[in-house]
Amino acid sequence: MTIAQLIYVSKASMETRPSVEEILKTSRVRNKQSQLTGFLCFRNDMFLQVLEGAPVAVSAVYGRIASDRRHSNVEILGYEKVVRRRFPTWSMGYIANFGDVQSIVFSYSGQDEFDPYGMDCRNAIEFLSEVANVGGRPGD
Ligand code: FAD
Repeated sequence: MTIAQLIYVSKASMETRPSVEEILKTSRVRNKQSQLTGFLCFRNDMFLQVLEGAPVAVSAVYGRIASDRRHSNVEILGYEKVVRRRFPTWSMGYIANFGDVQSIVFSYSGQDEFDPYGMDCRNAIEFLSEVANVGGRPGD
C-alpha cells in the first residue's frame, strides 16, 4: 500500500485559543477510523504536525485541518509517497513536556526556541521522530 506523508506548520489562532487536548481527542478517534497516523507538536503558539496514511485519507484530513479556524498561516513543509510509516503506532502522538526534548530542539534549530517555520521537510521529520522516541505520548 502506498503511504502518503504530509508535514505542515501553522500558528494557533489568538481568537479561538485552541485546546490541544480537544484537538488530540478528535484526531485520535478520526485518525483511527481512517488508518491515519502521525505526530503533533505545539509550542510557542505554533503547530508542527506530520500525517501518514492512504493518499486519499491524508488529503481529506488535510482539507479539514487547513480550513480549521483554530489556526492560520498553514504552510506545507513537504508531501511525499513513502514505503513505510515513521509513526506506525501513533494515531496522533503528542509531546506534552517540552522540557524533556529541549536538547533536540536546540540540535535541530540551533536555538532554544521552537520555530518550525525555519525547518525543512527532512529536518522536521527527523525532529519529530526523535521527539517521539524521547518524550512522545502515544495515541490510545
Ligand atoms: P467539525 O468538528 O464539524 O468542525 C467544523 C469547524 O468548526 C472546524 O474546522 C473548526 O474550524 C471549528 N471547530 C471545531 N471544533 C472547534 C472548537 N472546539 N473550537 C473552535 N472551533 C472549532 N482532525 C483529524 O481528524 N485528524 C487530525 O490529525 C487533526 N489534526 C489537527 C491539528 C490541528 C493543529 C488542528 C487545529 C485541528 C486538527 N484536526 C484534526 C481537527 C480538524 O481540523 C477538524 O476539526 C476535525 O477533523 C473534525 O472535522 P469536521 O469537518 O467534522 O469539523
